[in-house]
Amino acid sequence: MKADPAVQRQLLELAKVDAELSRVAHRRRTLPEIAEIDAGEKTVREKRDALVSVETAASDLDREIARQEKEIESVRAREDRDRKLLESGSVGAKQMTDIEHELQTLARRRTALEDDLLELMERREALDLDAQRTGAEVDKATAEVAAATGRRDEAVKDLDTTQARRDEDRGKLVPRFPEPLLKLYTRTLEHKGIGAALLRARRCGACQLELDRNTIAEIKAQPADEVVQCENCGAILVRTLESGL
Ligand SMILES: [Zn+2]
Repeated sequence: MKADPAVQRQLLELAKVDAELSRVAHRRRTLPEIAEIDAGEKTVREKRDALVSVETAASDLDREIARQEKEIESVRAREDRDRKLLESGSVGAKQMTDIEHELQTLARRRTALEDDLLELMERREALDLDAQRTGAEVDKATAEVAAATGRRDEAVKDLDTTQARRDEDRGKLVPRFPEPLLKLYTRTLEHKGIGAALLRARRCGACQLELDRNTIAEIKAQPADEVVQCENCGAILVRTLESGL
């Protein structure tokens, strides 16, 4: 393939623009905030699950406390009834002794129930603290995700700006190249990542391979308007005075 050496040299400008576009695309995929947001969202989910567990345990315990209080209430009601019976003076001596016994039993039972209730309430308090702590952790993780999302959006905005500028540069450059040359460049760019590079000091500017004596001699023998490609990476080798030929 043949192309005006001046046009070939302009391929270097296009290659520079494409290299920056490729850096932008790579950066877009590998922004550290992306991993940060993923990890943060995972933490938020885990903390929310933990909070739901604590809240479920708390409402289970609330039901248990209510049952316990009801039970204590019924013991207390029975004690009141017994006491009223005793005070009424309407019971005989034998029944009186029985009621006094029952009152003692009821008092022991109530004390045991009240001790249990106290323990339940202590556990409930601990769950409250746990819920507060976990809730704060959910808030913290949520805020971290929001901050990382903000930073990512800023970075993406910058990348969008750079990309728009380089796309514009590219739009201006592309019409300068004849169709077959552009096709060759594009194919190499797509397959190898670099479409054209400077041959500098006998080294391919794309793959950095130093060309051997024979290859250099072959390139040297080609007329200036011949399009030469690196035999290693396929990039179009643009020859200038720096090429060391
Ligand atoms: Zn090469």
